[in-house]
Amino acid sequence: MKAPVVLFWFRRDLRLEDNRGLFEALKSGLPVQPVFIFDTHILNDLEDRQDRRVEFIYEALLQMQQRVTSLGASFDIRIGEPLSIFNQLTTDYAVKAVYTNHDYEPYARERDQLVQHFLAENGIEFLTYKDQVIFEKAEVVKEDGNPYTVFTPYSRRWKATLQKKDWAGFQSHQLLDQLHKTLPIPIPSLEKIGFKASGIAFPDATWTKELIAAYQAKRDLPGVRGTSQLGVHLRFGTISIRKLASETSPWSETFLNELIWRDFYHMILWHFPHVVGKSFKPAYDAINWRNKETEFEAWCEGQTGYPIVDAGMRELNTTGYMHNRVRMIVASFLTKHLLVDWRWGEAYFAKKLLDFDLAANNGGWQWAAGSGCDAAPYFRVFNPYLQTQKFDPQLTYIRKWVPEFEELTYTRPIVQHEVARKRCLEVYGNALKPSR
Ligand SMILES: Cc1cc2nc3c(=O)[nH]c(=O)nc-3n(C[C@H](O)[C@H](O)[C@H](O)COP(=O)(O)OP(=O)(O)OC[C@H]3O[C@@H](n4cnc5c(N)ncnc54)[C@H](O)[C@@H]3O)c2cc1C
Repeated sequence: MKAPVVLFWFRRDLRLEDNRGLFEALKSGLPVQPVFIFDTHILNDLEDRQDRRVEFIYEALLQMQQRVTSLGASFDIRIGEPLSIFNQLTTDYAVKAVYTNHDYEPYARERDQLVQHFLAENGIEFLTYKDQVIFEKAEVVKEDGNPYTVFTPYSRRWKATLQKKDWAGFQSHQLLDQLHKTLPIPIPSLEKIGFKASGIAFPDATWTKELIAAYQAKRDLPGVRGTSQLGVHLRFGTISIRKLASETSPWSETFLNELIWRDFYHMILWHFPHVVGKSFKPAYDAINWRNKETEFEAWCEGQTGYPIVDAGMRELNTTGYMHNRVRMIVASFLTKHLLVDWRWGEAYFAKKLLDFDLAANNGGWQWAAGSGCDAAPYFRVFNPYLQTQKFDPQLTYIRKWVPEFEELTYTRPIVQHEVARKRCLEVYGNALKPSR
């Protein structure tokens, strides 16, 4: 007879410390078998066989496996569709319950419902917990119970709601002796999963008081190291949002606000899943996008003739990262100067960003296009030259990524700024004018 166990299903919470769902599983009184599924439904959609996000996940799993094998336990890592994997797992183990953490994306919600249903049919509980945000779903809402759609009042209420317990940690790492004891289970190679390593290093999962205290002054300057570069770690949960927020909040209110933006966009995605594929404000779906493919390609390749835009796109293509200020500039340029549908840009970022996160990416794109919940007004068209003067005055960032920008060989601007601005106002104006 197999000994009864509970499973802990890791997803975007790849750490053993301060992991809420894992903590609850470890307290269940039954041995906990850690599980990870390389979901082929997601992997099959990735075009690049050297996708560094898969490599990131893989490295995080290897690190955790090292720790758990030292305790006489092992990860069970599988490849396939979650539902059929649960079919196998419930045959291979005497599973009494499955623990996991909430995931707010539409695909994940549907997947979890299917899994929950399957488990329920087999008399197995599915228990899931808030872990990746400080406040979720309807925890921070207006007086009348409706969700906020504007950031500033949301952030005020967020701060008023916060109590120490909201970001107190969960001591999961102190209970690891409750893991299911087993011989090491072989981990499939990255090649077996269908991917290759790039060998490029990832940003560190650490932060310093010095960096965070200077965040307000430096965060808008792409030419200096002024932001945390923790995006990828927050995305995959290799750091705890509770630990990060509680530790850094005394050092910078501005940094805390950015973490609140993260909660805000997750909350928006939860309440308004139509933002995936559609404008938050429906009127914006009437915009007559130009969608010129050659111009879109020039933008993707960093060949628009606008140095700050080209620098951003080249940074993204080379490193999988782009500075936030520059993300705003390139997104505004694509949607307003070139009148390319924001969904094209969103999809390109989704392919390239190491820190790609559906909620934040969609929020960022709809903000730039003007179609979002708390978006830049449509008549605010960033001037890339003024943005450069303000945020890259020494041209440090531009020189790094577009060294040829002062030479005659450098691409001529794909469109004149003033022409593009007028065209944008006209096209947006036509779509948004009140119907008579
Ligand atoms: C068009 C566009 C697309 C974006 N796509 C993504 C994305 O796919 N994934 C993503 O995490 N962020 C996205 N952002 C938000 C922001 O640009 C990145 O979070 C930030 O640049 C990541 O760098 P960092 O870790 O150094 O951030 P820091 O400035 O050090 O901020 C710390 C953390 O706060 C969170 N954060 C900061 N700004 C925002 C924001 N505006 N919205 C939500 N969370 C925020 C992130 O988790 C970030 O890692 C996008 C912004 C725009 C304008």
